[in-house]
Amino acid sequence: MNLARQIEQYLPQQLLELVKDISGQAAKQGQRVYLVGGVVRDLFLGYPNFDLDLVVEGDAVKLAQQVAETSQAKLLAHHRFGTANLRYENFTLDLATARKETYARPGALPAVTPGTLKDDLIRRDFSINAMAISLASNDYGELVDPYQGKGDLEHRLIRILHPKSFSDDATRILRGVRYEQRFGFEFEAQTTQLLKRDIPTLDTISGDRIRHELELVFKEKQPELAIKRLAELGVLPRISSSLKGDGWIAEKFDKARHLKKPTQLPSLYFCLLAYPFSEREIEQFLARLNISAKLSRAMHDTLRLKARLPLLDTSPLKPSEIYYLLREYEPVAIQANAIASDEKEGTSSLIAHRYLQLFLIKLRYVRISLNGEELKRLGISAGPAMGHVLQTLHKAKLDGEVSTREDEKKLALSLKAPDLNTDPEPSRE
Ligand code: ATP
Ligand code: MG
Repeated sequence: MNLARQIEQYLPQQLLELVKDISGQAAKQGQRVYLVGGVVRDLFLGYPNFDLDLVVEGDAVKLAQQVAETSQAKLLAHHRFGTANLRYENFTLDLATARKETYARPGALPAVTPGTLKDDLIRRDFSINAMAISLASNDYGELVDPYQGKGDLEHRLIRILHPKSFSDDATRILRGVRYEQRFGFEFEAQTTQLLKRDIPTLDTISGDRIRHELELVFKEKQPELAIKRLAELGVLPRISSSLKGDGWIAEKFDKARHLKKPTQLPSLYFCLLAYPFSEREIEQFLARLNISAKLSRAMHDTLRLKARLPLLDTSPLKPSEIYYLLREYEPVAIQANAIASDEKEGTSSLIAHRYLQLFLIKLRYVRISLNGEELKRLGISAGPAMGHVLQTLHKAKLDGEVSTREDEKKLALSLKAPDLNTDPEPSRE
């Protein structure tokens, strides 16, 4: 099957010229270049994907070095792996020497030797990711699909390429679920059986790699679909016995995504995931996934604040009290609690929920207009006195007791120590 016309339509002009140029340079060195992996899959599916992966039958690093010399690209080469990354202004290209991989034991890093394109395709995760398109001039556009990836795309199936695939590299379990849910596909029957059989080999995967896969899940449009499916297949409890992928999580993830400014979305998903945990469970989870200090703090804060929320419900609080109560928590932990406590009218946590929202939307941004210099000019000395005035002004502003600069000045002057407030005694002459 020849896809020359499709490639010409699919790739932006600039990229197309670039890959053709690379392929031309490769030919002069007696090498062949192929487009491979996600881009081939997405070309068939009609999704844009311009993270191009190129496989080189020959020496990818040598080729990339030559390409970098003749173009504006920055080169990052890994000689040991035979891979190179070319960074241009608007995109990057990954070039990899075609290779053969063998795994000594489940979860081990593979032993890598140079190989043919076919060797390089069989080391891949799923048939839909194991297709290539030739860029060489004698068969430009020819599809190489030894494992029926195209057929599986048509039947909407995720299929591994050999029975040891998941046990060789159990991150493929998470990758597979991600693709299944992203595209609305299904695992092929035998793949499902092998996946279930090999769930215990997840224990052979490092925390960093599992966390990385979860982070990729959290970059999906609807990560809750993958989380739910991972729960259904029994994968989640193997990562951490306390992880749940129930309807509650789905609803909360959906809410998180629909926030006006979901800047810290992956962290927010992690905090929501941890919300039902006990202290002991969270410790296990943080250790298993080798979670960073910053995110650990946010997840701990999520639980600490959750434990404190019932106290917020007991008596009416002034905005300044809400502010000073909540400011010690990471904002993403407050956000997680706001989402988690957003229940129907009449439930006990409603007041607390309103306080959290007020903090997130308004109180955390409230600043006074006067700065330290201006206060000094009003006669307030630096040090504890200044600290006291700044905090009193801030509280007054939070509570709406001052609003203009003039209000702030008046209040600041009234706060000066009485002896400083009176005119200095006329000096005796
Ligand atoms: P995405 O749209 O998620 O980026 P992709 O196919 O581009 O999809 P990458 O993670 O960028 O995925 O990896 C590029 C290719 O490398 C994949 O298409 C797949 O062929 C191969 N690959 C990546 N990770 C693995 C793995 N753990 N085992 C085997 N092959 C893998
Ligand atoms: Mg990719």
